[in-house]
Amino acid sequence: METIERIKALSDAFGPSGFEDDVAAIVRNELEEYETYTDHMTNVRCEKEPGSDKPNVMLDAHMDEVGAIVQAIKPNGTIRFLPLGGWSRMCFPSSPFLIRSRDGKDIPAVIAVKPPHFMKASEKNAVPEVADMVMDVGATSAEEVKALGIGIGSPCVPDVKCRFDEERGLFYGKAFDDRIGVACTIEVLKRLKEEEVPCNVQASFSVQEEVGERGVRSNAEALKPSVMICYEGCPADDTFSEDYMIQAGLGRGPMLRHMDVSMITNWRFQKLALDLAREKGIPVQESVRSGGGTNGAMVNQSYGVPAIVIGVPVRYIHSSNCWCRLDDFENAVQLGVELCRILDNSAVSKL
Ligand SMILES: [Zn+2]
Repeated sequence: METIERIKALSDAFGPSGFEDDVAAIVRNELEEYETYTDHMTNVRCEKEPGSDKPNVMLDAHMDEVGAIVQAIKPNGTIRFLPLGGWSRMCFPSSPFLIRSRDGKDIPAVIAVKPPHFMKASEKNAVPEVADMVMDVGATSAEEVKALGIGIGSPCVPDVKCRFDEERGLFYGKAFDDRIGVACTIEVLKRLKEEEVPCNVQASFSVQEEVGERGVRSNAEALKPSVMICYEGCPADDTFSEDYMIQAGLGRGPMLRHMDVSMITNWRFQKLALDLAREKGIPVQESVRSGGGTNGAMVNQSYGVPAIVIGVPVRYIHSSNCWCRLDDFENAVQLGVELCRILDNSAVSKL
């Protein structure tokens, strides 16, 4: 696939945490020129020069997206669900979703709350608890829902189709956290396939990040990275922050994170990346965050590996409807490519 088509396909792919199979299939197809390995959690990995004595530079992106899982079917044919990943429940009501049936069909549903006509005065301006919301597939009985192949444990994702505005270089869609990072990783691997670089470029496409960075451990255990570059779709802050606080605005380049709740970034690696970006004329943004967390932290802590986060700004991540930009993607890819060109044994030993 061409880059734009690949990003659209990745955004559209069904893959809430724990159910990343469709995304993994796209990754394997798109990286046919590499020998990929898939483990039993559905983590996918590959490397450019296995067994070389060059340092291992592991690019990671998580394949899962925030979604939901069916908890119970009510007698009236509506469906109780639990969120998978960090949603604000304010984003649920009225959202179209797809529920994957036992035989792999995606059944359209809508997240419903009690209509205003039936609300008490006290309910009108309150956001209901998730337990008071339901997914509705238009059924009138539990039997009808079960006949559709929906049951306890059926996975769900927002029913949103990715669109690309060519004139503005703008994507609309779901799951850019972290499918845009998956696209970055694929792109870097493709661009470097035939190029001699001083490191062994590795790719980790990991599962279950949104429920606590669970998958990446298995990839890191196998790949034994010397350093890690964590590609993320990171929350854009340019629509509700004062100018001076904007650290991840659309169209301003990828964001390199100095700190979030999970990690204080190795400042030497961070400086190396920022200096390189400036030298190569790649626009970047820097951030210090009071929230957030990435796979970078998991690998950093578990293996003592220096990790940086390269984030493509995405507006409204962890909701159904998101925006991100092609130029930010392109600059994130370019920075990754340039890093792989300079990360030799000597550079890595100084981090
Ligand atoms: Zn993410």
